[in-house]
Amino acid sequence: MEEGIIKRLVTSIKCGVCGQGYEVDDIDVLGHREDLWFLRAFCSACHTQCLMAAVVKESAQPEVITSDFTEAELDKFRKMGRLTADEMLDMHNFLKGFDGDFSRVFSQR
Ligand SMILES: [Zn+2]
Repeated sequence: MEEGIIKRLVTSIKCGVCGQGYEVDDIDVLGHREDLWFLRAFCSACHTQCLMAAVVKESAQPEVITSDFTEAELDKFRKMGRLTADEMLDMHNFLKGFDGDFSRVFSQR
């Protein structure tokens, strides 16, 4: 999976604050573990930064999960490289099944 493809998926998401659509240039790929990607989007209209997680499976329709992550939460994600595979799977399942504060946006084709 290429970063450019991930970025294009995220452009289907709109800023949660002002509704402006993200451009490819507004999106940074922070990293990924297997098919779980972490991204940062910067709204060019209202200058709000949004951190988001995306679960992207090549065989299924990509699913993008957005959230207003705090910087502390982002730090946790940054340290995910030290997690074991089992812990990664737990995080993955958590993100896939979590319907609380996350809003799910299915990519437009
Ligand atoms: Zn905005």
